[in-house]
Amino acid sequence: MSAALSLRDLTVAYERHPAIHHVTLDVAEGALTAVVGPNGAGKSTLLKAVIGEVRKVEGSIDLAGRGRAKIAYLPQVSDIDRGFPISVLEVVLLGRWARIGGFGGASAHDRHEAIHAIEAVGLRGFERRPISTLSAGQFQRVLFARVLLQDAEIILLDEPFNAIDARTTADLMALVQRWHADRRTVLCVLHDIDQARARFPDAILLARELVAAGPTAETLSAANLLRARAMAEAWDEDADACLRAAD
Ligand code: ADP
Ligand code: MG
Repeated sequence: MSAALSLRDLTVAYERHPAIHHVTLDVAEGALTAVVGPNGAGKSTLLKAVIGEVRKVEGSIDLAGRGRAKIAYLPQVSDIDRGFPISVLEVVLLGRWARIGGFGGASAHDRHEAIHAIEAVGLRGFERRPISTLSAGQFQRVLFARVLLQDAEIILLDEPFNAIDARTTADLMALVQRWHADRRTVLCVLHDIDQARARFPDAILLARELVAAGPTAETLSAANLLRARAMAEAWDEDADACLRAAD
């Protein structure tokens, strides 16, 4: 197996709080992997470390010789400011940001491809719409169009199906499966364990530490999920202890 992504002893802390520690795993080229774990498990942090958005990391992140420009990243919706006065077409063109370095540099060809991507996610005619006027599902389609335009070899998606309707979920899941068929490497943070089991051949179960990684059926076994939950409950106890110590 050749790995598209190798983490060795990866540790990330915010201020003094460790968000993930000593995570070692390999993601095979072309794998379609669900990233699962309780709230606060460090799932978003893991993706942000891979794209270089969080910088205080120890250990190593190996992208098999690729630069980070080869990675497309779809952030968790709660991390995005939708009040920003920007159109659908502009958001999608941001997918070319790494290459063109700003809107001024978008060529007619870039615009043509952006419009094509907007059509591919079912939003034909929405190019000039301000993103603030879109429903949650429509906005998630826009973010998928941006990923399409990036044409990346590694695609990281953070809870892309949260708070969107079933129809949109099915349409966007079809795009994920197309990326998988294209042999792109896809990591997708998911809340829905059933969706992970049904659609994702591989999984990573995280609870600040790695609980398990590999084929989904074994990784997301009842015993492993229980263990992850028990680890999450221990964090709450830590929080109480810290509060008590403070008074
Ligand atoms: P998940 O995505 O699995 O819910 P996160 O990666 O968002 O988990 O968060 C892991 C831990 O790191 C949590 O305890 C969270 O509160 C903390 N954390 C996340 N982002 C920050 C930040 N920017 N500053 C400080 N702590 C953070
Ligand atoms: Mg998260």
